[in-house]
Amino acid sequence: MRLVIVGGVAAGMSAASRARRFDPAAQIVVFDRGEWISYGACGLPYVLGGDVEDFGDLVARTPEQMRARGIGVRLRHEVTGIDAAARTLTVLDRDAGRTVTEPYDRLLLATGVSPVRPDWATTDLSGVHVLKDIPDGQAIQASLDGARRACIVGGGYIGLELAENFRARGLSVVMLEKGPDIAGRVLDPPYQQRVRTVVEEHGVDVRCGVTVTGLTGKGGRVTGVQTDAGLVRADVVVVSVGVRPNTALARAAGARIGKTGAVAVDARQLTSVDGVYAAGDNAEATHRVTRRRVHIPLGLTANRMGRVAGVNMAGGHATFPGILGTAIFKTFTLGVARTGLTQTEADALGLHAHSVDVSSTDHAGYYADAKPIHVRLTAERGSGRLLGTQIVAHGHLSAKRVDVVAALLQQRATVQDLFDCDLAYAPPFSSVWDVLLVAADRLH
Ligand code: FAD
Repeated sequence: MRLVIVGGVAAGMSAASRARRFDPAAQIVVFDRGEWISYGACGLPYVLGGDVEDFGDLVARTPEQMRARGIGVRLRHEVTGIDAAARTLTVLDRDAGRTVTEPYDRLLLATGVSPVRPDWATTDLSGVHVLKDIPDGQAIQASLDGARRACIVGGGYIGLELAENFRARGLSVVMLEKGPDIAGRVLDPPYQQRVRTVVEEHGVDVRCGVTVTGLTGKGGRVTGVQTDAGLVRADVVVVSVGVRPNTALARAAGARIGKTGAVAVDARQLTSVDGVYAAGDNAEATHRVTRRRVHIPLGLTANRMGRVAGVNMAGGHATFPGILGTAIFKTFTLGVARTGLTQTEADALGLHAHSVDVSSTDHAGYYADAKPIHVRLTAERGSGRLLGTQIVAHGHLSAKRVDVVAALLQQRATVQDLFDCDLAYAPPFSSVWDVLLVAADRLH
């Protein structure tokens, strides 16, 4: 049995490891067009800020370690075509400059996403970047040498993480966002505003409702970003305006692409083509609240999908339970978290939803260092079914709470179920009625 995996990061390597455990005799080969495998892209902003020393620290397992476990790893090998009927791949060996045909019995496409590059960002000017992988991070690192002004285009979570880390290096930062506010894809408007306030307090010049029209440069290096609201001078520009699933190989295999634009898979991560699986950022998942197919590319999802695919490729049976869109990010002093649906998302789906907002402190006010915490809890009117939460709070405080709600959403719990939860309490950690319990009490 020859199991072939295209893409050697979160989904691909989880699949390879799982398949190896499940079937010690299978031949497993991973092709990646890049030079790095098995690393945490999530840590990239923190290398740039200096909290993580080196890009190499992000690597979980080296190619040598994978090979020692009997997993063949071919770096700088780009898969350029598939013949699903013959069960073969066309692979370009970038170093040798030649193309070979590789057979497979079962194939996993774990090809991830690519950052969107608008036309104006396709340029020969140096100092203009996206941040997707380690080479992107290294290129940004090199551009930061001697740079004083950074412009981040896009106010999503990666842009916000970068803003903090660029400020940590002493750069001035302008953030340009086309929409009405930053963090717009993950939060309802009042919570977007809370994030913006803190980001601005930390010296980031946030400009929303601004459309980028071009770049200026001198001597081959970027000098600014042209917008419909004037020129923003910059020595480094990072474009962080979204991602697109890499579906070219799935299409070439004849696999169905879902309405979200990502590869359609069943619960076993199998595509519509026999023997071809897809997992990770390039694949759709079922949202456990709405039961709809969604594309929400995140790290745990990719790892989990990879494990499921690995077991199934190796002849076992595993299913992926779906996702809740649970996410958290740090920007300056804030931890910003969400799970399930926002009120805006629930409204767009025509759900009969309502929300309550509670602003309090994370722990007993009489104990030192109580910090503000803001929670929005959303539920279905009538049934009381929990739909989601958004939490904006200091440091790690949102993490404990968002995970409680995520665990309950998984069980399709109600607001009453949340209110009935026996949560941990001592003055340094929470109030006797934690902010989540207060929100549940007010919502039912
Ligand atoms: P990828 O990591 O994209 O790997 C795909 C691999 O496939 C690549 O190595 C690519 O070279 C290879 N490939 C593609 N096409 C071919 C081909 N034709 N031939 C050969 N090889 C190919 N998620 C979170 O949950 N929390 C976070 O805090 C978080 N922070 C992030 C911060 C940043 C800056 C970035 C960029 C991402 C972050 N993510 C975060 C997302 C997370 O990193 C991804 O969900 C995860 O890496 C997806 O893994 P994957 O294996 O599906 O795809």
